[in-house]
Amino acid sequence: MNISGKAALVTGASRGVGRATALALAKGGCSVAINYNRSREEAEQTAEDARACGVIAICVPGDVSDDEACRAMVTAAARTFGRLDILINNAGTTRFIPHANLEAVTDQDWDRIFSVNLRGPFHCARAARKHLEDSGAGAIINVASVAGIAGTGSSIPYCASKAAVINLTISLARALAPKIRVNAVAPGFIAGDWLREGLGPNYEMAKQAAENRAALGKVCEPEDVAAAILGLLTGSDLITGQTVVCDGGALVGRL
Ligand code: NAP
Repeated sequence: MNISGKAALVTGASRGVGRATALALAKGGCSVAINYNRSREEAEQTAEDARACGVIAICVPGDVSDDEACRAMVTAAARTFGRLDILINNAGTTRFIPHANLEAVTDQDWDRIFSVNLRGPFHCARAARKHLEDSGAGAIINVASVAGIAGTGSSIPYCASKAAVINLTISLARALAPKIRVNAVAPGFIAGDWLREGLGPNYEMAKQAAENRAALGKVCEPEDVAAAILGLLTGSDLITGQTVVCDGGALVGRL
């Protein structure tokens, strides 16, 4: 797929992976709708930086757990661009809870994490379906996590939600074929706000440990994950239903 002249909606694009992906798309000549939930100023900065690449960029606020909000952001994007070719389901949330502390996990944790991480991508895919079909080369990328493969990560509900995203990717790939390809990336440790805020004073130690575990000796920057997403979009048109791990070889491990 050639992304130049195309249009994309990126959820959770105010910061981190979403921002890096929106800017990578913009650098390739793809107009972008920048979704955010709370971080308006950061989202506007992402949109401004995207416009500096010469594309159209708009901000579309909304909580992806809210179906009506997802339909509204898709409608706004399609109306502005006159098309929608790409959906990046990146928005995600968690709560950091040690896995052994089962009593600390509330029903609200399960509901919130699943409604954002799993129902959100489904809402957006459903809302965008018609536009992506009309594109002639529609593509969806879901941002999963190695947590959904290895069962290690910020909390048990988070790991389960990302495993479900990997499964959703397969179901949607079959349901939306042949007009829309659906794939996922599963990042490992990403240097940035998410883990800095979640791990607090343990952040540097955890980052060092992740680097030590990784075959390539590095953790991801948001731009590394964006590059994996762009690779799935612009590479073979015959890849669908797949999840690409982007973790510096942490799952592979060292000798
Ligand atoms: P981040 O820097 O904390 O950014 C999260 C983004 O998601 C923000 O733009 C945030 O927007 C948005 N968001 C959160 N809840 C939302 C909601 N209900 N509706 C719409 N937007 C919402 O995190 P990140 O590291 O870039 O993470 C991006 C994705 O990668 C997530 O799906 C995460 O699970 C996944 N991931 C992260 C890591 C990691 O180590 N960080 C590893 C593997 C996978 P607002 O600020 O406006 O709320």
